[in-house]
Amino acid sequence: MTTLFRRAYPPAELPAGAYWWLPFCGPDVVVREDDGQAALLYGGMDVVAGLEFEPPVLLGSLDGVPCVSCQLSSTAELPTGWHAIGLRELYGKLDDALYEIAGYAAHLLLWQRTSRFCPVCASSTEPMQGDWGRRCSTCGHTRYPQLSPAILALVHDGDRVLLTHKPGWSARYSIIAGFVEPGESLEACVQREVEEEVGVAVANISYVGSQPWPFPDQLMIGYMAEYAGGMLEIDTAELDDAAWFHVDALPELPPPMSLSRRIIDAWAASRRRELLDGQSSFRA
Ligand SMILES: [Zn+2]
Repeated sequence: MTTLFRRAYPPAELPAGAYWWLPFCGPDVVVREDDGQAALLYGGMDVVAGLEFEPPVLLGSLDGVPCVSCQLSSTAELPTGWHAIGLRELYGKLDDALYEIAGYAAHLLLWQRTSRFCPVCASSTEPMQGDWGRRCSTCGHTRYPQLSPAILALVHDGDRVLLTHKPGWSARYSIIAGFVEPGESLEACVQREVEEEVGVAVANISYVGSQPWPFPDQLMIGYMAEYAGGMLEIDTAELDDAAWFHVDALPELPPPMSLSRRIIDAWAASRRRELLDGQSSFRA
C-alpha cells in the first residue's frame, strides 16, 4: 500500500476532526502498546484533554489524516495503556510511514525548543509564514531547522568489504560514517572520511540512498565505493578496529532500521548473486 504524506507549514491550523497524535514526553514518543506492537493515539483534542502540553504542531496529513505532535509536560502522568518509547526502540513496532513521521515530529519539536532566541542578539524569535523558519524580533536574523548531512560509505574490493568498529560498540561493525564539512561535496566527503578513518583511497563512488536520522538532526546519505589502494591505517581517535571481511563471513552488523545495514545487505546480496552466477557458469 502506498501512502502519501503532505507536509503542512505555519500558519496552518488544526482542522476539526480526528488526528494521528504524536505526543512526546521528553525525547520519547507516546503510543499505545500491546503485545510488542505499538499504535499511535488517534482522535480529536479530547485525546490529550487533562494533560499539560505545549501548543500542538500540525506536521501534515497522511492519506488525508492530519498528524499532530506536541510536547507533554515532563511531569505529565500518562493515562493507562500509554507508553513513552524512544524512537530507536519504536522501530519495527509501527507502520513505516508513521515511524518516519514520528522522526520528523521529534526533529521539529527539537527545533521548537532550541530556536526561541536569536543566536546573534539573544532577543526572542517569531515564527515565519510558509515554512518552519524563525525570525528575530529585534535584528531580523532568520534561522531554519538544522539538518546535519552525514555520509555513509561502504568500501568494497571484490568479495571483501571494509568494516569499522568504534570503542563502546558491542561486537558490531559498520561502514564508514562522517559529517559533511562546510564547502565540501558529498563525494569529496566520502573520499576524505575514508582516507581519514582508515587511510585508503576509493574510486567509483556511487549513490545508494538516503535516510532521515533524527538522532537528533542528521540526514544520512549512503554511498558505495571501490577500494583503490593504500594500507589500512586506523584513526584511533575515532575507531578501535577496521578490517576486511569476506561476504560469507560478516561480523555482527548494525540494526535493520539503519541505512548502513541496508547498504551492507544490498552489497552482500549482489556479491552472493555474482558468486553463484560465477559458480553456475563454471559448472556449465
Ligand atoms: Zn537577533
